[in-house]
Amino acid sequence: MGQPKNVLVVGGSAAGLAAADGLREGGHEGLITLLTAEKQAGYDRPTLSKALLSGTGEPEVRALRSPQHFADKDLRLRTGVSAARLDPERRVVVADGGEEFPYDVLVIATGVRNRTLTTDEGEVLPTMRTSEDLAVIRDRVAASEAITVVGAGFIGLEVAASLRERGKEVTLFGAHPLPMDHIIGPEVAGIIRDEHRRHGVDLRAETFVTGIGGEAGGYVLRYTDREGIEHTHPSGCVIAGIGVTPNIEWLEDSGLCLDGGVVTDAAGRTNLPEVWAAGDVAYYFHPLYDELVRVHHWTNAVEQGRVVGLNIARGTDTAFRTVPYFWTDMFGRKYHYYGRRRGGDESVLAVGSYADDEFLVMFGAGGKIHAVVSRGCGRVLRGYRKLLQCGAGWDEALAHAGITTARAGA
Ligand SMILES: Cc1cc2nc3c(=O)[nH]c(=O)nc-3n(C[C@H](O)[C@H](O)[C@H](O)COP(=O)(O)OP(=O)(O)OC[C@H]3O[C@@H](n4cnc5c(N)ncnc54)[C@H](O)[C@@H]3O)c2cc1C
Repeated sequence: MGQPKNVLVVGGSAAGLAAADGLREGGHEGLITLLTAEKQAGYDRPTLSKALLSGTGEPEVRALRSPQHFADKDLRLRTGVSAARLDPERRVVVADGGEEFPYDVLVIATGVRNRTLTTDEGEVLPTMRTSEDLAVIRDRVAASEAITVVGAGFIGLEVAASLRERGKEVTLFGAHPLPMDHIIGPEVAGIIRDEHRRHGVDLRAETFVTGIGGEAGGYVLRYTDREGIEHTHPSGCVIAGIGVTPNIEWLEDSGLCLDGGVVTDAAGRTNLPEVWAAGDVAYYFHPLYDELVRVHHWTNAVEQGRVVGLNIARGTDTAFRTVPYFWTDMFGRKYHYYGRRRGGDESVLAVGSYADDEFLVMFGAGGKIHAVVSRGCGRVLRGYRKLLQCGAGWDEALAHAGITTARAGA
């Protein structure tokens, strides 16, 4: 099979750039064009809600690749170009301005965008996803001392922590009794809730925001508590952190298999010839879990993008089977998470204690280890990652932690 001549990558962030680099690493010598809707090429998105918002790090976003890198690798980047339609018969992507981009091979890496909240007056409230969002939020919080964050997922928790570090009064509305406990387990979710409260975040659990009136400087949120009693809450600035939706509208009617993401096999191939996908937008088959998964984490996007690029360049079908990983930073503490915890998993504290700065918790059931979450423990963590990657048994994981089965069950 000859080398594909012309690869078009739609999306120029973590996954798209990694796919382009993977193509060159795998020996692809043909054209590589990247289209990205944003005004700038990929940058370090995770820092937006952390150091860039708290003001504790560099003031500006860090580009993922230098201009020199694009030149050295001969990557043609078109910023501010949004793909509007895919015509797989003609092998063309049509941009919103009508310009057509032909391809021999297409990589879809358009990621996800944030869901939004709209006020009674029709104002779409700010969310944190892009460098432009950061600029809007910085302006808004500069003009207001009391900030409200709606949604206690990771982005909401990080934004609340960073604004608190900035000295703002922060109220955080979360729908669940504990933030993110379905992912990190109730023990660590409780620690994160308590840390937020200890640092002065007014975290209101089991609340449902039902509407928002007013305007910047004078919003009034309406919400119900766990008993269904209605309340109001005034706030100068409201930020939404209520989940994401995949950027796949432009692919409707293309014949691509879409299901809350672009469905791919383990190698990253879609159901259309020469069309691949990677990163947050992909809904891909994971051999370790024997099912389709959506993973919205940075390292996943980078690693999967590279594997897709290598597969295209080499004409291979290597499966991407890496255990999902993410980290999060709040109040100067770094949490790491590998794997996928499932409902009903038992948890075992494998390292440290919950009162320590550092600890590691394992989750598992049915004789298997499913996930680990840790605060700190960077070096120890690697051993657990390997156990997850090779599908280790629960007893093996306990033995690795130096725990006898009897003690774990006690
Ligand atoms: C504030 C924030 C903090 C985060 N923190 C962490 C963290 O601590 N740890 C972690 O593991 N993960 C974190 N993440 C998640 C991580 O950033 C994502 O998993 C990662 O960015 C996914 O990369 P991607 O390339 O798949 O998609 P994206 O980064 O979303 O990039 C997709 C790109 O495609 C462009 N695009 C979309 N539609 C089109 C179109 N039609 N035409 C052209 N271009 C298009 C978009 O504008 C965007 O530039 C965070 C995310 C956010 C928003």
